[in-house]
Amino acid sequence: MSTGSERPRVAAFGSAVSGMTATYLLRQRYGVTRFEEADRPVGNAHTNSVHTADGARQRG
Ligand SMILES: Cc1cc2nc3c(=O)[nH]c(=O)nc-3n(C[C@H](O)[C@H](O)[C@H](O)COP(=O)(O)OP(=O)(O)OC[C@H]3O[C@@H](n4cnc5c(N)ncnc54)[C@H](O)[C@@H]3O)c2cc1C
Repeated sequence: MSTGSERPRVAAFGSAVSGMTATYLLRQRYGVTRFEEADRPVGNAHTNSVHTADGARQRG
């Protein structure tokens, strides 16, 4: 039975920067359930490659 005191619930999608930021901000006022369709977080932000000091290419 509802007491009427529960926070409204919302859904957020994605566990990359937008989804995580939205979740962080929304959870201050709402109960948030976040959905991620991939089998890992961070969306596309993992694709940057860098060259280390020894010249090797390292994928972030
Ligand atoms: C090919 C490519 C390479 C990039 N490489 C870099 C990089 O190296 N470094 C960098 O700083 N920025 C990079 N960017 C830019 C970076 O991806 C974006 O600025 C940033 O990731 C956008 O974050 P986002 O949370 O909005 O979206 P995204 O990172 O795209 O994340 C969206 C998330 O939502 C999930 N999702 C999507 N649809 C659903 C659904 N229906 N249900 C549940 N979950 C869902 C996805 O699986 C994903 O986890 C790249 C962008 C692209 C397209």
